[in-house]
Amino acid sequence: MKFIYDFNEGNKDLKNLLGGKGANLSEMTRLGLNIPPGFTITTEACLLYFQDPVEVMQKITPDVMNHLKDLEKETGKKFGDVQNPLLVSVRSGSVVSMPGMMDTVLNLGLNDESVMGLANLTKNKRFAYDSWRRFLQMFSDVVMGIGDEKFERILTKYKRKIGRNAQDTDLDFSELRKVIADYKALYEKEIGSSFPQDPVKQLFLSIEAVFKSWNNRRAKTYRKISNIPDFGTAVNIQAMVFGNKGNNSATGVAFSRDPSNGQNQNFGEYLTNAQGEDVVAGIRTPKKLDTMKEEFPEIYSELLETMDRLEKHYRDMQDIEFTIEDGKLYILQTRNGKRTPSAAVKIAIDMVKEGLITKEEAIMRLDPKKISKLLFKSIDENAIIHVLAHGISASPGAVSGIAIFDADTAETLANEGEKEIILVRPQTKPDDVHGLYASSGVLTQFGGKTSHAAVVARGMGKPAIVGASDIEIDEENKEFRVADMVVREGDYITIDGTTGQIIEGKVPLVEPEIEGEFLELLQIADEIKSLGVRANADTPLDAQKALEFGAEGIGLCRTEHMFMEKERLPIVQNMIMARTKENRQEALDKILPMQKGDFYEIFKIMEGKPVTIRLLDPPLHEFLPELSIVQLERQELRMTNALSKSLLNISPLDEEIKKKNKVISLIRSLSEENPMMGLRGCRLGIVWPEINEMQVKAIFQAACELKLQGINVIPEVMIPLVGMISELQYVKVQLMQVALETIKEYNVELEYKFGTMIEVPRAALTANEIAIEAEFFSFGTNDLTQMTYGFSRDDAEGKFIPIYLNKEILEHNPFEILDQEGVGQLMKLAIKLGKKTRPDLKTGICGEHGGEPSSIKFSHSIGLDYVSCSPFRIPVAKIAAAQAAIENKQE
Ligand code: PEP
Ligand code: MG
Repeated sequence: MKFIYDFNEGNKDLKNLLGGKGANLSEMTRLGLNIPPGFTITTEACLLYFQDPVEVMQKITPDVMNHLKDLEKETGKKFGDVQNPLLVSVRSGSVVSMPGMMDTVLNLGLNDESVMGLANLTKNKRFAYDSWRRFLQMFSDVVMGIGDEKFERILTKYKRKIGRNAQDTDLDFSELRKVIADYKALYEKEIGSSFPQDPVKQLFLSIEAVFKSWNNRRAKTYRKISNIPDFGTAVNIQAMVFGNKGNNSATGVAFSRDPSNGQNQNFGEYLTNAQGEDVVAGIRTPKKLDTMKEEFPEIYSELLETMDRLEKHYRDMQDIEFTIEDGKLYILQTRNGKRTPSAAVKIAIDMVKEGLITKEEAIMRLDPKKISKLLFKSIDENAIIHVLAHGISASPGAVSGIAIFDADTAETLANEGEKEIILVRPQTKPDDVHGLYASSGVLTQFGGKTSHAAVVARGMGKPAIVGASDIEIDEENKEFRVADMVVREGDYITIDGTTGQIIEGKVPLVEPEIEGEFLELLQIADEIKSLGVRANADTPLDAQKALEFGAEGIGLCRTEHMFMEKERLPIVQNMIMARTKENRQEALDKILPMQKGDFYEIFKIMEGKPVTIRLLDPPLHEFLPELSIVQLERQELRMTNALSKSLLNISPLDEEIKKKNKVISLIRSLSEENPMMGLRGCRLGIVWPEINEMQVKAIFQAACELKLQGINVIPEVMIPLVGMISELQYVKVQLMQVALETIKEYNVELEYKFGTMIEVPRAALTANEIAIEAEFFSFGTNDLTQMTYGFSRDDAEGKFIPIYLNKEILEHNPFEILDQEGVGQLMKLAIKLGKKTRPDLKTGICGEHGGEPSSIKFSHSIGLDYVSCSPFRIPVAKIAAAQAAIENKQE
C-alpha cells in the first residue's frame, strides 16, 4: 500500500486519499504555481493508525525519511542542521474541509542549536527566535497537550512589560529569549522532562498528534453536525516559508469573491511579519487586501492573477492561504471557499451568467438547508434601537438572545431548552465549537472576517459579528463593558450580522423578502424540477405569503384553524352544544358566511391554481373550554349561591350552574382516552354530517361566485383520516349532492375534485379500493408516521425520541425526516395500488415532511406529483426538488 505521495505525484481528484489540502497542493504544483515542496501521508494511513498505531508508524517511518531526503535536496537545506536547518510544517487535511478542527504544527525542526544557525543564516535573530518561540508553544500545546493559555499568559506578561497595547511583534530578540526560557521551564514542569531537541522525534510525534486529532472532541462534534463520514485525515509535511521574517514578509487569506455577500471582487486579509495562525486566531486585527496594493504592489497583482487562475481552474470561488517571504509570494492552500447562503446564491447565479458553470451545477452547489437561512430575519426599520457598538459583519442575519460568555454554559443552557443564546467571546477557538452550535449567534471582540468565529458561523449559517473592538470582555466576571454600560451574563442583546450593529436588549425582527439573484435561482429551479411545490396555508394571509414565495397551489388548508378564531369560537361552541337540530342549524348558518368569506379570499388569491381544502379534522372537545376551568367556575357559582341562600334564602345562580353542568357533561362525553385515534377526521362527518355539509356549501358557494366573476377556481375537497372505502363512500355521496346542488344553483361550469388524505396505514394497504372514490391522495405523513410507528405525535418527541436518538436506536426523528423504510414503503404501495385503479390519480405529501430536503428527494423518487409545505419553506423545497430531478437524470 502506498502511504505517501509527493506533491509532484498527486492531483485534485485524489481528495479521498490525500485530503482536500494535499490534493490541491499537488494540483497547484502541477499547475506550476509557487508551492513550497512537500509530501502527503494518506487518509488510509490515518484510518489504519486507529487500528494499529505501532504497525502504521513502523511502516511509514522509512518512507517519511526518504521523502525528507528529497525535500532536503530540493530546498538545499538539511533537517536538524545547525547551520542551515530545514523547517517543516505538519498539517492536517481532511477530505471535506473542517476548518480549524484538527491540529497543525509549524516551524518544526528547530532546537537550541539550529535556532542559532537560522539566526546567523538569515541575519535575523528576532525572526529565528520568534519561530522557535512559536514552535515551542505549538508543539507543547498540540502534541504534548499543555494548554495553550498557559503559554499565552507568559507571552502577555512580557508584552505588558512593554506597554498596555503591545503586540507580539513588539517583543525584541532579548525579550523573546526570556519568553523562551519561561516556555521551556513550563514544559519541564508540566511534562517532567526537557523539550525534545531531536527533529526526527519532533516530526514523528507531530505526525501522530495530527492523526489523533481526527478523533478529538471538537472534530467529532463538527463531523456529527456537518454529517461528514469517518474518512480519516491526511498529514501534509511541507517546507516552511516564513511570513514572520520582518516587514517585507506577510501572511494572509484571500477569497476570489467576497464570501459574505458574493460580490465578484476579491476579498482578503493579511498581517505583515506574522505566521498564518495569527490571522486565523484573530490575535491581531488584520489589514484589508486593498492595503497590499500600496504595501506590496507587485505581489498584489501576482496574487490577484493567481486567484483568478485558480477560480477558473476549479470553477468555484477559492479560499487561498498565502505567505510572502522576503518579497516572494507562496501559495499554501486553496479550497472552495465557505460562504454565506446569500453569497452562495449570488456566486452560483453569477457563475452561470459568466458561463463558468451550468444551471444544473449552480443548483447542485447549494445546500437547501442553508439556503433556508436566507429567509432569516432582519431588524424592523421602525424599531427604536440603542446601538451599543459596531463590529465587523461576518455572517448575516439578525438575532436576539441572552449573552453567554463561555461555550460550556451555552451548551448546558441549550440542552435545557434555551433557544435564544448569543455566545460572546474575546475570540473563538476550535474548542468553542459546541458552544457555537448551541447558540443562535456569536459576537467576538477580536478577529476579522476570516477568523475562526467568522468562518464557523458562516458555515453554520448563524449571524456573527467579530472584531468588535469597542467592547471589553471580562471573562472572569462574565460581562462586557461598552462605554459606561455593562452587559452581564443573561442580559438580552441583539446582533445584526448584516450591518455589524450590537444592540441593547431584544429588538423586533422582520422576515426577509425574496429578490434579486434568489428569484433568478428559483426560476432555474422551476425550469429543472418536475415535482410541484404547494403550500400549507389556512388563511388568506398565509395564501398571500405562499404566492409571494412561489407556491403553485395550496396543498392543505386545515379548516379547523378557521373555527378556532376568537369571534367564531362561541358560535362553534353553540353548535356543538345545541340540543336540537334547529338550534344546531342556527349556529351553522352563522358559521357558513364566515367560512365562505375565507374560502372566497383564498381562492381569489390563488386564482387558477389548485386549492385543497380539508374538511374539519380534530376531535370536537378541542373546541370546548378546559374541563378543570369550567369545574372551577361552577364551584365559585355554587359557593356564591350557597351564601345568598343562607343569608337571603334565594338562589339567583341556579340557571348559570345548570349551564355549567351541561358544558361539563358535554366535555366529559366528548373527551376521549385516546383522542388521536378517536372521533376525528372523516369519522366526525359521519357522526355530525351537518358540519361537512356546511363546509362543502361554503366551499362551492365561494368558488361559484368567483367563477361568475370570471375568476378561475380549482377547489379540491379533502376528506381526512379515511381507513376504509366504505367511510369515503358514505361521506362522498352526501357531499357530492351538496356540491352538485350548489353548482346548479349558480349555473356555472366548475372543475373540482374530491380526494382523501392517506394517513392511516389501512388506507395505504387498500389504496386500490380507496382510489375508486378518491381523485387525489395527499399523504398526511404526520399521522401516517404516528400510526406506522405507534409513536404518539403529541408525546414522543418530548419523551423518548431524544433518548432514542442519543442511544442511536433512531437515526433521525421520524416526525422530521421521513422514514423511508416504513412510512415511505406504505406510500409507495399506496401509489402503486391507487394508480392501478385510477391511472390519473394525483398524489402529494402535506405532512411536516413536505418541506424537508431529504423527504422531498424521496417524494421525487417515488413519483409524487407535488409536495406541500409552509410558505417560508417553498424556496428550499423548490431547490431540493430541482436537485432531485438533476440527480435522477444523472443516475
Ligand atoms: C398529517 O397527518 O400529516 C396532516 C397533514 O394532518 P394533521 O397534521 O393536521 O393531522
Ligand atoms: Mg393528519
